[in-house]
Amino acid sequence: MSVAPLPESVAKFRTEYRRTERGTHYVGWAHFAFTSLGSLSVIAFSLSRLSEVRPLEWLMVPVSFLLANAAEYFGHRGPMHHRRKGLELVYRRHTLQHHHFFTHEAMAFESSHDFRMVLFPPVLLLFFLGAIATPLGALFFALGSPNAGWLFVATAMGYFLTYEWLHFCYHLPTEHPLARLPLMARLRRHHTVHHDLARMGRYNFNITFPLCDWLLGTVWKQR
Ligand SMILES: [Zn+2]
Ligand SMILES: [Zn+2]
Repeated sequence: MSVAPLPESVAKFRTEYRRTERGTHYVGWAHFAFTSLGSLSVIAFSLSRLSEVRPLEWLMVPVSFLLANAAEYFGHRGPMHHRRKGLELVYRRHTLQHHHFFTHEAMAFESSHDFRMVLFPPVLLLFFLGAIATPLGALFFALGSPNAGWLFVATAMGYFLTYEWLHFCYHLPTEHPLARLPLMARLRRHHTVHHDLARMGRYNFNITFPLCDWLLGTVWKQR
C-alpha cells in the first residue's frame, strides 16, 4: 500500500519480524471481519435486551464511555509501556513490536498481512468480553438494573470496536480517503506523535479520544 521508503531501523525490524513470525495462514481481512462482526453481534444482542429504558439508566452510556477512556489510558500508559508481572505479553506486543514495526516516520501498513500488528489478537476479544465486559455488566445488572447492565456491555463493546477501527485508520497510508477526514486527521496526528520512540513513554496515551491525556496533562505540544 505505502510507497515511501522506510527508515532503515523499521525496514530491518519488519524483515526480521516477518522472518521469525511468518504466520502463513494469517488473513488480515478475516481478522478485521472477526473483530468487527464479533463486536457488532455483542452490541446488537445487548441492545435487543433493553426494554423501557428510564432516563437515569441512559446515564450508563456516558459513564461507561468515561470508564473505558480511563481504562484505555491507564492500560496503555501502564502495562502496555511497562513490563508488569503476568502481563509481559502485552508489553512485548505493544512496546517491543507495535512501536518498532510502526514509528512516527513509518506509520502505514504495507499489506493486509500487517493488520495483525495493529488489531488485538482474536483471543483478546474473547478475553475482553469474558473477563471485563461480562462481569462488570453483571455487576451493573445486579446492583443497578438489567437495562444498566446491557447498556454497559453495549457501550464497552462499542468503545472496544471504536478503538480497533480508529487505530486501524491511523495506520492506513496517508493518501487513503478515510485518513483524510478532518477529525481523523487530528486523531492520527495525536497517535503519530505517540509513535515517536523518544516520546512514547510520556505523551499521547489515549488511542481514541484524548480526554484523559487532556485531563492529566500528557498531550504533547509543539514548542
Ligand atoms: Zn499505533
Ligand atoms: Zn504505545
